[in-house]
Formats: sequence, structure tokens, C-alpha cells
Amino acid sequence: MSCLFCKIIAGEIPAEIKFQDEQVIAFADINPQAPVHFLIVPKLHVENAAELAAQSPAALSAVFAAADQLAKAEGLTGYRTVFNTGADAGQSVFHAHLHLLGGRGLAWPPG
Ligand code: AMP
Ligand code: ZN
Repeated sequence: MSCLFCKIIAGEIPAEIKFQDEQVIAFADINPQAPVHFLIVPKLHVENAAELAAQSPAALSAVFAAADQLAKAEGLTGYRTVFNTGADAGQSVFHAHLHLLGGRGLAWPPG
């Protein structure tokens, strides 16, 4: 198994875990881009968000529900959720993950 996030799910690589249930794990991003920067990761290994939607709409829904729950637990009054898809969009880990960002003003449009 060569997937970094599958290794975190399996407990083989440590992470600052914020939440997990049968479908989802959430942990702090190792290189945070905002005061709150968590990754919400389906336990099912799929490459990107579109694959997740195709293979498990329930897991996709669980990812967003976990993000909203975590944002509320962090006291965020607003937050951004991002799925990067493809290297040209900045995807570097090819196991689908939703970025949850908040705790500072977030510019729009993003870079
Ligand atoms: P992306 O570039 O959208 O594929 O996002 C991958 C994210 O994973 C980046 O924001 C990285 O900082 C983060 N990351 C990489 N390795 C780890 C790790 N071991 N633990 C937590 N986050 C990580
Ligand atoms: Zn994986």
C-alpha cells in the first residue's frame, strides 16, 4: 500500500486526528494554510471527488457533514471547503480529501 492517506487511516503514519467514524477520518493538515486547516478524508480509497461521488455518494455526503460539524466545533463563522482535482489544480495526494479552511479572512477568487 503506497497511499499516504491510506497509511494514516490504517494508523501506520501518525496524524492529529480530529474526528473519525466508519466512513470518514479528519486530521490536521501538516502544512496549514489557515488557523484551521483540516483534511476530511473518506476511508474508501478513490482518487478524487468525482470518483467519490460516483462510487459512494453516502461517503461524499459524510465528508461534507463532518466538515460542517468540525467547523462548528472550532467556532468558525465561515469556512471554505476545497477538493483539488488533478496536479494542475494543486492535488498532490491522490486519495480524495476535502480541505476545510477557516479562522482568518479568505480572499475570493482564490489563487
Ligand atoms: P492536495 O495538495 O490538495 O493534494 O492536499 C494534500 C494536503 O496534504 C496538503 O495540504 C499537505 O500539506 C497535506 N499533507 C501531506 N502529508 C501530510 C501528512 N502526513 N499529514 C497531514 N497532512 C499532510
Ligand atoms: Zn488511499
